[in-house]
Amino acid sequence: MWDAGWWSRRVGKPDGSREIIMRRLGLACVAALLCATTLTVISGTTSTAASSTPVAFPSKPKGLKAPVTLPKDVDPASAYVPQVACQPGTPRGVALTRDLVMRTYGVGGAGNTARSCTEGVSEHADGRAWDWMVDVTKPSERAAAADFLAWLTKDGGTNARRLGVMYVIYNEKIWAIYRAKEGWRPSSGHRDHVHVSFSWNGARGTTSFWTGKVQPVDYGPCARYSGQPGVVNGQARTSPCPALTALVRKTSRSTEELGSRAATVRSAQTALGVKVTGTLDTTTRSALARYQKAHDLPPTATLDQPTWSSLVPASTTWDAAGSMTSSEAARYGAKNYPTTLGPWATGKSVLVLQVALAVPRADRNGYLGPRTVAAVKARQQALGRPVTGRWSKADWAALAAAS
Ligand SMILES: [Zn+2]
Repeated sequence: MWDAGWWSRRVGKPDGSREIIMRRLGLACVAALLCATTLTVISGTTSTAASSTPVAFPSKPKGLKAPVTLPKDVDPASAYVPQVACQPGTPRGVALTRDLVMRTYGVGGAGNTARSCTEGVSEHADGRAWDWMVDVTKPSERAAAADFLAWLTKDGGTNARRLGVMYVIYNEKIWAIYRAKEGWRPSSGHRDHVHVSFSWNGARGTTSFWTGKVQPVDYGPCARYSGQPGVVNGQARTSPCPALTALVRKTSRSTEELGSRAATVRSAQTALGVKVTGTLDTTTRSALARYQKAHDLPPTATLDQPTWSSLVPASTTWDAAGSMTSSEAARYGAKNYPTTLGPWATGKSVLVLQVALAVPRADRNGYLGPRTVAAVKARQQALGRPVTGRWSKADWAALAAAS
C-alpha cells in the first residue's frame, strides 16, 4: 500500500501499521477480547480465501447516489500518490464524501480527517484521508460498511474511480484502486473503522461523481529537496512534480512537523519569537510559513533542513558552497553553470549564486525565491546587463569579470 523506495526516504510507518500500533497502545487491555469477539462474529459469514472480502458483502449494494448526472467516461484509476506535505485539513471532496456516507447509512461516527504530521507517511497528514467509525463487531455498522465497500469496489472499482478513492482498509484487509486486480489483500487493524484514502482529485472534489465530468489528474503538492517535506499547496496541479534536488545544507537537527514535541522545538520557537510551548503547534506552524516566505525557503511550514540551517545557523553541519567567498562563488558559477536560473530554481547552483550576490546568510537556501530574484535584478542593473530576474551564463561571466 505504499511505494517502498519512496518510503525509505521518510521516517515513520504506513497508515495501516501506524493505526494498529496506536490501538495497541490505547486498547491493549481489551485487544484479546475484541479479537475473539471479531472472529466469532465474522467466522460464519466470510471464507478464508486470500482474496476474500473483509466482511460478507451484499450482492446488490445500495451505495451512494451521485448529486449529478454521471458522464459515460470514468475517471482514471489513481496511482499510489503518497503524502508528502504537512497540511492537515478537510478538503471539499473529503467533507462531501463523509457527509454523504453519514447521510446515506446513518450509522457509525464521522471520525477523523485532519491530524498532526508526526505519525509517519499518512494521507491524514495532508487532509486526504477519512476514518468512518464503523465497528466490525456491531451488526448494523458492519452491514453499512459492507454495503459501502461492496459498492465502491464492484466492477473493478468504477465507483472508487468516480469518487477518487485511492485505497480503503477494513477489518485487516486493504483494497487499492491501483492494485484492483488483486482484490482484497491482508493488512492490519482497522476493526473499528473504515480508513479511506483519496486521490487529490477525490480529496478536492473534482471527480466526475461530484462535477459530472472527468477532469485532468491533480498531482498534489511536491517536495523540492530530496527527503524533505513537500511544499504546502491547496491548488490543483496538473503537471507531475519537478525532479527532486539534493539538499544544499545539512544540519544536526531532525525535521520536525506539526505536533512534534522534540526538545529542539523550543529553540525554534525562541528564534521565531513565538510562545515557547515545546510543541510545534499551529501558531508555530504559521510563524514558520511566514519565516520561509521572508527568507526564500520552500514553504513547507515545517522545521525541515533548509529552515533549520537558516533559522539556527549553528546547527549547520555541511554546506554545498563550503566556505566560498563571493568572488570565488562568482568564478565558480561562471565556470560550472551554463544553464539560466529562473524563479523557483533549486539546488547548489542557486546557493552559489546567493553567495556570489552576497545575499544575507538567512536567505542563502538554494531556492530562487523573491528575495534572490530582487538581488539578481539589482546586480544585473549594477553590471549594466538586461534586468530580467533570470541569471544567465552571460550574467555569470559579467559578475566574474567584475569580481
Ligand atoms: Zn485512517
